[in-house]
Amino acid sequence: MFTEEKRQMISYGLLMDRYQLIALSGGNLTMRMRTGEILVTPSGMIYGEMQPEDVLVMDPDGRVLEGTRKPSSDTEGLLYILKHMPEVNGVIHTHQPYATAVGLVERDYFPVNLTTLGNVAGGHVPITPYSSPGSIELGMDTVRYIGKSRAVILAHHGVMTVGKTLKDALYTAVYMEEAAKCYLAAKAVGTPKMMTDEQVRQSADIFRFYGQDHGEIPRELLERT
Ligand SMILES: [Zn+2]
Repeated sequence: MFTEEKRQMISYGLLMDRYQLIALSGGNLTMRMRTGEILVTPSGMIYGEMQPEDVLVMDPDGRVLEGTRKPSSDTEGLLYILKHMPEVNGVIHTHQPYATAVGLVERDYFPVNLTTLGNVAGGHVPITPYSSPGSIELGMDTVRYIGKSRAVILAHHGVMTVGKTLKDALYTAVYMEEAAKCYLAAKAVGTPKMMTDEQVRQSADIFRFYGQDHGEIPRELLERT
């Protein structure tokens, strides 16, 4: 079941690879179906070799409904996120090096420095304390620290992004990596300029109208600054 959705997950896994958010079989993707089933990518498989039947179908408690592969080692934490964030249907975990590096030099959060990061993350991106990979803590910390953001940086590990759809979660991960590259490049030669709270709010608001499906950006939003 859900062959088309499984195919889509694999194609997003390939995009994670293309945008250098993972190496080899790192990271994972999780998608909640309208009917409640949860699709999880298998443990330790390279996305280029993954077939739809390798993706597991689970119930919300982690019982496997379809698939013979071992699910991602982070599954317990991923299911925890979905259980505690009912508005989220897509979760992406990456080992993207630049955003992870920000987590090594900043204490509490990655401050928004580009409109694109404001667009997709909706605000500053919190940094969680260290938790062991493969533990439920990784999911618990995501829920505890994410606040109004759509991503967290997992200290010494990687990034977790969430979205109403899996595509939203992917966009957040990709734009976050772009912003992290700019941030670290700027930090290497000076003190990066930050956006004001008003600019962050505006960039988050405008993104609601981005793309083909959301209508024109209202004039008053554009005229606010
Ligand atoms: Zn990981």
